[in-house]
Order: sequence, then structure tokens, then C-alpha cells
Amino acid sequence: MNIMSLTRIVQEVAFAGSPTDQVKLIVDSISESLDVDVCTLYRINADQNMELLASHGLSVKNKDIKIPAGKGLVGLVVKSRHAVNIDDAAKHPDYFYIPEINEEKYTSFCGVPLVRFGKVIGALVVQSKQLSKLEKESEAVLTTLASQLALIVAELPAAISTSVREATPHNIRVNGNKGAPGIGIGKAVVCIGDDLSNVVDAACDNVDAALVEWRELLEKVKLDIEAERASLKENVSESIRGIFDAYSLLLSDQSLINKVEAELKAGHWLPWAIKHSIHYFVELFSAMTDPYLKARCEDILHLGNKLYFTWRGKNPHQDFHDISEPVVLIGEHIDVSLIASVPSQYLAGVVCFGGATLSHTAILANAMGIPAVMGVGAIKQLKDQQNIIVVGDEGIVIVNPTDAISNEFNKLQHRELVLQQQLDSLRDMPAVTRDGVRVSLFTNTGLLVDLTPGIEYGAEGIGLYRTEIPFMVRESFPSEDEQIAVYRRVLKAYEGKPVYMRTLDIGGDKQLPYYPIDNEDNPALGWRGIRFTLDNIQLLMTQVRAMILAAEQKTNLHILLPMVSSTGELDEFISVLNDAVHQLKEEGHAVCKPKIGVMVEVPAVISLLPFWKKKINFVSIGTNDLSQYLLALDRNNARVASRFDHLHPAVIQEIKRILSVAKSCELPVSLCGEMASEPLVVALLLGLGVRNLSMSANKIPKIKYLIRSLDMVKMNELAEQILQSDSVEQIRHLLEQELNELGLTDIVYRKTVTSFQ
Ligand code: PEP
Ligand code: MG
Repeated sequence: MNIMSLTRIVQEVAFAGSPTDQVKLIVDSISESLDVDVCTLYRINADQNMELLASHGLSVKNKDIKIPAGKGLVGLVVKSRHAVNIDDAAKHPDYFYIPEINEEKYTSFCGVPLVRFGKVIGALVVQSKQLSKLEKESEAVLTTLASQLALIVAELPAAISTSVREATPHNIRVNGNKGAPGIGIGKAVVCIGDDLSNVVDAACDNVDAALVEWRELLEKVKLDIEAERASLKENVSESIRGIFDAYSLLLSDQSLINKVEAELKAGHWLPWAIKHSIHYFVELFSAMTDPYLKARCEDILHLGNKLYFTWRGKNPHQDFHDISEPVVLIGEHIDVSLIASVPSQYLAGVVCFGGATLSHTAILANAMGIPAVMGVGAIKQLKDQQNIIVVGDEGIVIVNPTDAISNEFNKLQHRELVLQQQLDSLRDMPAVTRDGVRVSLFTNTGLLVDLTPGIEYGAEGIGLYRTEIPFMVRESFPSEDEQIAVYRRVLKAYEGKPVYMRTLDIGGDKQLPYYPIDNEDNPALGWRGIRFTLDNIQLLMTQVRAMILAAEQKTNLHILLPMVSSTGELDEFISVLNDAVHQLKEEGHAVCKPKIGVMVEVPAVISLLPFWKKKINFVSIGTNDLSQYLLALDRNNARVASRFDHLHPAVIQEIKRILSVAKSCELPVSLCGEMASEPLVVALLLGLGVRNLSMSANKIPKIKYLIRSLDMVKMNELAEQILQSDSVEQIRHLLEQELNELGLTDIVYRKTVTSFQ
């Protein structure tokens, strides 16, 4: 096989419809191109057994072939993590006979591992009747293909229970990334887009059960349609009734029924079978010239969605006005408007298939005190209304828990509450270390509903007001008056306390529904923050005017600039600010020029601070972006989330540098990234010299408790030691050791679910 064949296979695979088609295509193409008799693909399951995913050339008697962990030549490939290429498999000491796959007639064996994120996740094997090893060139091609294939196999859904009668397994544990702490228990509300178009393919394990499920679904939807038709008022026009008749007719149409059944028999799960069949008919009808028939496309699509929603047990028009029990929102990305639409007393948790700890969904969940887990991937066993536990501190989700597990988590939740009440008693106490060093604690916010918790938790001001959030929960840019009203409420709620209001920071992962910024290869490096607002100067002017006007008669407004990376940007902003103040004075307003500062989140700014010391009044370290840009790790990418750690020695060194540059420039510094709310990290930040921290309101009590338990002298020494460390693990270990010695483990970073493995 040459490089051309390799490229062809990869291209063909990329165009194959479903993952199942993709893996089948791979094994078929490899067999053909390498001229081997057999090609098989195995995946390692959670129980470490090796499951046969696809095969070419084997006569497989049983569909569910699993090789026990570590057994046979496939086991050897997995254990050794490199290619095993031999001419006579049966003579090898590791040979393991599997009666169900009739492979005894094949003599040679070449297997290569599939590796993802450093772990072996499967194996690709070719076998032949000839008594000769696979050629070296072909072995290299196989290894290359295995690396492509690993991406596909890693994304394949786990086995899916398709039978309506089969009980859903209990305590399905799904690992993700920490989003927001706390334990949330509620009923799942699945928000996977709202229609059939978002369904992805998955394998159907039990075709017979799926066929039964399909027929039952058809009957249920037919009855629903009948009931809906019957409930129509007498005066409803005949054309509306006609739609229901059309639905009923379509549901009885043998060609639709047969098409879905054929898809199920071909090994696809039911939602995909419905999607595929519905799309087939939509295309058929849309190609028709008769306008009446053409228009039936819409009915077919509606019907498809109706089938799908009924299968999911979801009411498509669900809103949250009349909910009366806690819910957990689950979807690819749960957007801000969705979170805002659920009455907060019923929002028990948020789970995102994508996203990472620093995505804005997670930040918002943190701000609102809602447990959240990010980047869990697709949870195929999940259905609407299933019980679900969200363990934010651990980044895990438990689907369909047994009563025993639910009780355990209820107790933990209660314990958290009691702890919180103890911490509440510190509300009016200062955040001061045992040796008398005062630290100021501010809150991060962006929602009006989120103003009171900050005050209740004793925040000394707002360290970061993310103005993009009021911009996001709307359908168009807010007018100057609308902005004034919002900002006025914020400044009034914190009268006498500083409020650091940031200008609009959209772009990257913060999109406005009515002004999407797409088509950027690297959104995080693209049109975001001040770059966007300076290019849309009318928006910036309106916002700055609104802030200044809202602060009329008040002195607590500070304007903070996001994503600044050059002197030109700062100067342009200063001229907008001067112009805004001038305009407002001309208009007769008694306004004054607010203090301004920059977010230090683009590393380039650190070198520029000395040049800016006369132009700005303060700086705020945005460690979420600073870490992202310093480490070249997308803060929102679940794939690299496990590598994203604020305790990276380079981040620590840069924070130290910022503090010393700011000190020499006499610029006050605060730190408002999520780092400020992680107890372990805060201990270090204090030792480095940070004295102003801004965090989600609900984090303030714990951080205050921590600060009041620490000795600054000790923390300075520890920070010095940490500045000599070159690994995250070592830094974490030193900090954990210190907090353990101080007996703070239970309070500040206790693991919640050690008993649930
Ligand atoms: C940051 O980058 O650390 C920050 C606070 O800003 P945001 O998370 O809104 O980008
Ligand atoms: Mg930022």
C-alpha cells in the first residue's frame, strides 16, 4: 500500500456518513489495499475487555465478541503499546483461540494499537492465510491509519440500550471537567438542540428490541395525533385538521415504516433511523414539481421531530414557567438565556457535553452557585426526566442513581449546606490573615439577579462586572437608556464600594445571538474584546456614555478594558472616553471622568505596563485568558481541559512578574480570574503578594475562612519555594501539604465523592 491509498482511505472515511459506516469502511478498505484476508478493529471498554467493533473477512458467529483484558495477541498489542507483526500466530505463546470468529485458518497477524491522549483505546489487526509477516511499509501505513482511526473510535458512543423494555442501568458514572462546585440533584432536561437534525449516529445493539420500540413509538404518536385532532375546537379550520390527517396518513405509510426498519436492521439506533428516513422523504418531496406535494416536506419534517420528541419523552414547547421540581439542564452547550429562563430555585445543575471549566457557561454557573460539569461527551443512556446527580467539585455526573447513592449525595448536600451556614457567620468579619495582613474580597458578576448574593456574602465591591452578559440575554444591542438603567442599578447596589465595569468583551466563546462572529479560524486570537469594540466604535461610545451617565453623582465607577494588547488600543479608548465626557458635559450632565484600567490577560501587556503608568489607574489580572494565551491552551476545549492548570509554573512566574512591574509603576492590582476562587491557589496568590481578589459571590465565605486561617509569613516562604518548582504536580503537592497541615482539607478542598467509585 502506498501513500496514495492511505490518503484515499482517510478521505473516504471522512465522507462516510456515520461513525459505524466509517469504521466499517476502514476495515474494508484496509483489507482491499493491503491485500490481506482479514482486518478487525477492537475497542477497549470500560471493563478493559476488548470489544470487536468492525471486521472484514471474519465469519463472526456472535455479534458481541469481547476478548478478555490482556488476552491473546490483541491483548499483547494493547499491553506492549507497539506493533506486533508475526508470521505464524498460532505458534505464538500469547495466541488465544476465540471459537466465535473462526480465525484459525489465518496464519499471519499484524496488530497496531489505537492511542488517544496517551492511552491505548483499541487495536487494529490484519491477518492473512499466507505464512509471512506483513511488509514493513504496510505496517507503517497501518500504524498511520490507526492514529486517524483513534479519533473516530474515541468519539464512538458506548453501547446503547435501545430496548424500551430493558431497564436503564443504574449509577452510570460519566466523567467530565469541573464546571462549578456543589452537588445538584434533579431531573434531567435534555436540551440537545431541539430537533432531529442534531441527532448523531450510534450503533444499535439489539435490533429486535429496536424494532419493537419503533412500532410502539409509531402507535403512541398515532394516538397522540388522534388526541390532538380530537381536542381541536369545533371552529378550527379544515386545513388545520387536514395537517393532522396528513400526519396520520404518513405514519401509516408503509414506505416510511419500512425505511426506518431497514435502517435499524443495518445497525443504526432508532433516532438516527428516523432522521435518515425522514430526510430521505424530505428530499424526495422537495424534488417534486407539484407545489402542493413540495410543500409536504414541512409536514414530514414536523412529523420526524414529533417522533423524535416523543421518543425522548420531551415536550418541544417546554418552558420552565410551571416547573415545580429541581432540574438539571443537559446539552452540548447550555447557553446563558436557557440558564436564565429556569427559576433559580429549581435549577439544580448544568451539564455540558462540550465546554471546559473556563467556558462562560461554567463561569455563569459559578456565579449563580449552580453545580456544573463540562465536557462529558455524549451521554447516550440519558433520557429526559431521568434522575441525575451533578458533582461539580469532582467533574462527574451520575445518571439514574439508585436510592442508596441518592441518599448518600443528599447527605453530602446537606453537609455542604451546614458548612455554608457556618461560613455565613464570617460575613461581616474582615478577610485578614492570622498575622494581621488585610486582603480585599470582591465579587465577579454580570447579571442583575446576581447583585444581591455579593452583598450578602460580604463582597467589598464588584471586582469584575462582565457587561457582555446583559448584552447576551437580549435579542438586540441594548440602547443607551437601557444600559444606563442596568449600570445604575449595579452602581447603586454597591454605592460607596468600587465597581470595576468592563467594556463589552464579546468574541471568542462569548457570542451575541444577534451578532455572531463566525468564520474565524482562531476565535480566541481574533476579533474579541477591545478589538471588536474599537472597530464598532458606535457601540463603545454608547456603552461608555451609558456607564458615565449611570455614575452621575457617584464615584464608584471604574472602567476596565478587556483584551488590550497594544498602546494604540489604549490611546484610542482614552480618546473615546475623553470625547464621551466632553459630549456629556456639553449636554449639561454633571459627570466626571472615571478611573480606568486594563485587564492583564494578553501576556504582551506585561511588558507595556511601565509605558502606561500615567495613562491608567489600576490593573486587573484576568488569569483565565492569561493562562490560555501563555500556555497556548484553549480554555474552552474539552480535549485539552485536563492539561489546563493555573498552577503551571509559568503562570505563577508571570503573576509574580505582573505584581512586581505593577508595584514599580505604583498601579494597584487585583486578580479576577477563576484562580481567585480556588482555595489551594489563593494560598499561593497571597504568598506571591496578591491583596485584592475578585470571585463568584458564593466563593467568598470559603476564601475568607481560608485567609483567616493562614499566616502570611508562612505563605511568603511557601511561595518562594514554589517559585523554584518546575511542575504543576510539585506545586500542587506543596500547597496540599500545607493546607493539610493546617487542618483545612475538609473545609476548603474536600473531595465529595470518595465513597463513590
Ligand atoms: C479572565 O480572562 O480571566 C477574565 C476574568 O475574563 P473572562 O473570563 O470574562 O474572559
Ligand atoms: Mg478574559
